[in-house]
Amino acid sequence: RKERISILGLGAMGRALASALLEAGAEVTVWNRTSGKAGEFVARGAREAPSVEEAIGAGDLTVACLLDDASVRETLAPATRHLAGGTLVNLTSGSARQARELAGWLDGYGVRFLAGGIMAVPATIGTEGAFILYSGARDVFDRAAPVLAPIGRPRWVGEDPGGAALYDMAALSGMYGMSAGADHAVALVHAEGGDVETFRREVLQPWMEQMLPIMVAGADVAESVPEEYNPAMQATGLENILSASGEAGVPEDLAGHLRASLWRMRRAVG
Ligand code: NDP
Repeated sequence: RKERISILGLGAMGRALASALLEAGAEVTVWNRTSGKAGEFVARGAREAPSVEEAIGAGDLTVACLLDDASVRETLAPATRHLAGGTLVNLTSGSARQARELAGWLDGYGVRFLAGGIMAVPATIGTEGAFILYSGARDVFDRAAPVLAPIGRPRWVGEDPGGAALYDMAALSGMYGMSAGADHAVALVHAEGGDVETFRREVLQPWMEQMLPIMVAGADVAESVPEEYNPAMQATGLENILSASGEAGVPEDLAGHLRASLWRMRRAVG
């Protein structure tokens, strides 16, 4: 028999999840707070549930992908009776503490719960690079993983329900730091009238690809300084970037994270 999956939430991400699961041949029921978003999925064979309770009742497994933790609580609170004995996978982003508290709350109702963190954007759901972090009981993961594999490669990170959120938030922090760096790089080239498209394609992309494994492997807590680290050279290098920013009239604070991390390392070197 086909797997029956209910999806709560048809925002940009919920829609991508519904689409990938329908594509994989699952029996999908969808629910969204505001009606009128299910048409395209109903046309592809999904069922639209008129209430959260009915959505939960229609699935072997319910996936919540809503705005935030508060919206998950608000949505599930009137339906906890229907969730009892069932499985809920929460793919709504939030903090580790929120995930632990949600797990505790649902455990009180006898719900089998997995917390998740989506390491993809809607356009990459179901593609090779997409992966989903899950945390919670291993047996719940083992049962849910094959069912949810069509949305992204399942990766269990441990029993602690907060584990997926912790890695998710930390990984996003890494991404936003890189994003601030890339923004600053492009702003510099743009401010000096450089060819932004050529810079992006022929310099920034291959440079960041070359450095990415080195940056990730070298990222460490404050006290650790790589052996080959040369603070004098790094300090000069940073001043060069800041001078270039000043010359181009690009605000220095876009590169402020560099200064903070450099000072941290210099203090560690002593
Ligand atoms: P959207 O803003 O597109 O959709 C939000 C969804 O939450 C809608 O279905 C909305 O319903 C629903 N919602 C909001 N408040 C409530 C509430 N109080 N009660 C019930 N439903 C509510 O967001 P996304 O779909 O993009 O994101 C969903 C989750 O996925 C978020 O936690 C996000 O962090 C995570 N995520 C998103 C990524 C992305 O790139 N988009 C990447 C990785 C994770 P309504 O239509 O009625 O407003």
